[in-house]
Amino acid sequence: MPKKTGGISKYSNDLGFDEDLQARQRKTKQPCPVCFLHLDRCICDAIPRLKTNTRLTLIVHAKELKRTTNTGRLAIAALENSKMCIRGIKDHPLDLSHLFSDFEDSYLLYPSEEAIDVSELVKKKSSRPLHIIVPDGNWRQASKVGQRHAELKYIPRIKMDEPFFKNPYADFHLRKEHFAEGMATLEAIAHLFGHLESEECGQKLMDLYLQKLKATLIGRGLLKK
Ligand SMILES: [Zn+2]
Repeated sequence: MPKKTGGISKYSNDLGFDEDLQARQRKTKQPCPVCFLHLDRCICDAIPRLKTNTRLTLIVHAKELKRTTNTGRLAIAALENSKMCIRGIKDHPLDLSHLFSDFEDSYLLYPSEEAIDVSELVKKKSSRPLHIIVPDGNWRQASKVGQRHAELKYIPRIKMDEPFFKNPYADFHLRKEHFAEGMATLEAIAHLFGHLESEECGQKLMDLYLQKLKATLIGRGLLKK
């Protein structure tokens, strides 16, 4: 039995259970190139195609993209109005200067002290479309993104004040070190889009995340089919 871990409100560094180590010990052989699950458990047929007003940019480290527990790529596959920018490629520094448009309000998801709560952002009801930049990866990598890229320096920060959905598997995680509030990237994006776009859109992303989590846990023998 896995050790029970904290709920989604907890930071994952508090967790004693090294799920990532387990994942490394049983490396997925020949994973699907999109969902990174074993081909028998591939969930790609279930990926929705969602049209949204809110634009998503995911900034992901090249190393993170190789990890089978990565969920950011599923968000990109599901959201038509989204793009992935890859950092950490040798001799190819990431140029974010073309990332912004004068016709949108851009925000970086990062829980700094001055960050605006997502629920406050919803109340603002700006007439311009939103552009949300999400750093993908473990918490340490994500915290570097805002510092390393000068283009992001003056972009206002937002943070999640309250989750939009309940996660029936909140005691389980894909890996030990997580994004803010112990959430995987796709899970955080599901909550965000639930707040900012529509409940239906957020729910479809959440369902996709839960499928990935469930299939991963089954693969690790932590959950029965
Ligand atoms: Zn797949």
